[in-house]
Amino acid sequence: MSELLEWFKRYGRHDLPWRKTNDPYKIYLSEIMLQQTQVERVKGYYERFLERFPTLKSLAQASEEEILALWSGLGYYSRARNLRKTAILTDGILPKSYDELIELPGIGDYTASAICSFAYDQPLPVIDTNIKRVLSRHFATIKDLKKLATSFLDPAYPKEHNLALMDLGALICTPTNPACHLCPLQRSCQGRNDPHIYNAPKKRRTEELELFLGVCIKNGKIALVRSKERLYHGLLVLPHIDPIEENYIATIRHSYTKYRIKAHLYACEAPIEAIWIDLQAIGEAPVSNLTKKALRCLHP
Ligand code: SF4
Repeated sequence: MSELLEWFKRYGRHDLPWRKTNDPYKIYLSEIMLQQTQVERVKGYYERFLERFPTLKSLAQASEEEILALWSGLGYYSRARNLRKTAILTDGILPKSYDELIELPGIGDYTASAICSFAYDQPLPVIDTNIKRVLSRHFATIKDLKKLATSFLDPAYPKEHNLALMDLGALICTPTNPACHLCPLQRSCQGRNDPHIYNAPKKRRTEELELFLGVCIKNGKIALVRSKERLYHGLLVLPHIDPIEENYIATIRHSYTKYRIKAHLYACEAPIEAIWIDLQAIGEAPVSNLTKKALRCLHP
């Protein structure tokens, strides 16, 4: 067994819930949830989602509303909508081949390879951000990484090899401070003397947003509208309004994906398209986190 696999056996993140299964649906779900989202944050959502939707078939039968409600707070909601589309299109049975998987909504090269490797143990390289960094440092290049990854793949243990590289990138070959002295690849690594020149972490672009939102609460219910905008598309949100100064309530700040949001809250009349949500049941509705934060500010 290679030093990389020995290292993985001892130090790999075997306790992650999605590492304890070969079920393609559960692996698919975890990979979609992990896009742009931290591992620790995903764990709770993953467990709750599987409790409610234990199979892809059960997901195919659910309404978008119900799926979005469970996804609420995880962000990038198109991921949840694509999960549902895939569940319906496949009738709850994921295909086994890369070529078929990559045709499905929301499944790109990485996710298709990850399902093939982690669920079906197929000899395909998986290249996520962590693995990309490890490979580019190890081979001292940022070019032809897929080709290099394919030739580097351990044909006897393709799944473990991919997982090992992933964990190595997360735990040892980190973006800013690689611990080369602990690395199982240190003897063959060509970029070890200057790891930072390969795949330096990119600064994330942020966008400032200033919103004017209306709050109308009557008989324990709040008037929300379904967002048709890119921001929170499909979720229930506070309506945008033309502010009237004497109705000002408060200003809150919130970060969502690349957006830094400053939201000014004003009392308002309910818009005609309002959907009234019981304040007691707000946790079960597909409501944006910004809206929940606004409510906490109104009823601390
Ligand atoms: S030796 Fe250092 S730079 Fe090379 S793969 Fe290991 S941690 Fe990364």
